[in-house]
Amino acid sequence: MALPRVVAVTPGSPADRAGVLPGDELVALDGQLPRDIIEYQLLADQESLGLEVSRGGIEFSLQVERQGGEPLGMEVDAALFDRVRTCDNHCEFCFIHQLPKGMRKSLYVRDDDYRLSFLYGNFTTLTRFTEADLERVLTECLSPLFVSIHATDPEVRARMLRNRRGASSLRWLRALLDGGIEVHGQVVVCPGVNDGEVLESTLAGVLDEYPELASVACVPLGVSRFNREAAMRPHTPAEAANVIDVAEEWQAIYAACLGRRLVYAADEYYLVAGRPFPALETYGAVAQHDNGIGMARAFEAAFEGRAEELEGEAGPSGFFRSVEGAPAVGYRAPRACGGVSMLPPRGAGTTILTGEYGARVLAPLVDRLPGDVEIVAVRNEFFGGNTAVAGLLTGADLSNALAGLPKGRRYLIPDSCLSGGRFLDGMSLDDLPRPVEPVPADGASLRRALDLEWAGGRPGPAGEGPERTAELVR
Ligand code: SF4
Repeated sequence: MALPRVVAVTPGSPADRAGVLPGDELVALDGQLPRDIIEYQLLADQESLGLEVSRGGIEFSLQVERQGGEPLGMEVDAALFDRVRTCDNHCEFCFIHQLPKGMRKSLYVRDDDYRLSFLYGNFTTLTRFTEADLERVLTECLSPLFVSIHATDPEVRARMLRNRRGASSLRWLRALLDGGIEVHGQVVVCPGVNDGEVLESTLAGVLDEYPELASVACVPLGVSRFNREAAMRPHTPAEAANVIDVAEEWQAIYAACLGRRLVYAADEYYLVAGRPFPALETYGAVAQHDNGIGMARAFEAAFEGRAEELEGEAGPSGFFRSVEGAPAVGYRAPRACGGVSMLPPRGAGTTILTGEYGARVLAPLVDRLPGDVEIVAVRNEFFGGNTAVAGLLTGADLSNALAGLPKGRRYLIPDSCLSGGRFLDGMSLDDLPRPVEPVPADGASLRRALDLEWAGGRPGPAGEGPERTAELVR
């Protein structure tokens, strides 16, 4: 088990006053070594806290005193201090199995850990969940959690996970719901495997066995050009339309039986089927925004300054939305890091580079803008297949696109394709042939990046511009 290492201390904070320094390793908090950031938070949540610290191999004690609930003021380097629980499934649709060799190690980690579900909104199949885990989840109220259902038919589920435990592990879902835990589900729909009648039967099974689920997302499998599973392929437009029809048919049934829509088809299905997205209000709190559910409509509303129309907080899932003390470094790093120099001046024409799906969502929004703003859809040649989302764009593909574009324009890219300042293929912003500005992948951030304000439903230049570089380039 690794010791949590302090990576930052806020000046003047209780940790600073006690003498904690960046680089210190925490041997114990209040006499105990926490297994993860969840236990760390529980142990740290007291007025007077004894710390056992190791600095340069020498262990000593410090006493931290907090006043009036002030934050502890230190950050540690990881979310889990013991090992990530990896999955024991071998799903034929697994995207991790479709990654080329030589990418950074963390991308190959196939986690199936309820703690990462709570912390980051990762989905878990519950095949490695235990009675002790259930007790902890219920005792510490680790809610919400995110569970991969795929199919409620035990045989189909076990076949999809290639794990016989998949047939019975949804019993834990029942136990979590019985314990009052909020759970969001997903069905990764694979054409010819769990779409059509199987999907209908799954949604009927949800109503029958798990009606307390907070939401269920139907999302398409990702297929890269490195896929070696002959049966795995992207949906055709007709198959995508069928998934939408099944989801919308069941929305009506759920609405009648439960008073809420519950199931949603991913935005990608509407793009593949060539259908308009449903209205924003049909998505409720947009609970599975990060899973591509209602993302386009939420982006549009935020871009047009109609954020008040969002019922919920369409942002990152999981506990890390609000956690104090733990950066995501070590498991999921901050996106853009470091500055970008030599940006073109304000007033230069602007080009937004994004994935093919993102470009289709942005096109109608940008078409209405005044001034010189254009979109370039960057094809994902690196992964190939149906990988058209912005988050999977690589430095190599962006580099190729930028090389053919003129100097002197502003180039904006979504920061969702960066992790710790690097693209998935390991390239950094400095490797690109033009200076680019990574923009957080939400409508409000893009609006600010374009210096826009919306008045009377019409876009126009902002009266006072944002602190562009400071806000956008982190
Ligand atoms: S559970 Fe997830 S990580 Fe594990 S094999 Fe299936 S898709 Fe891959």
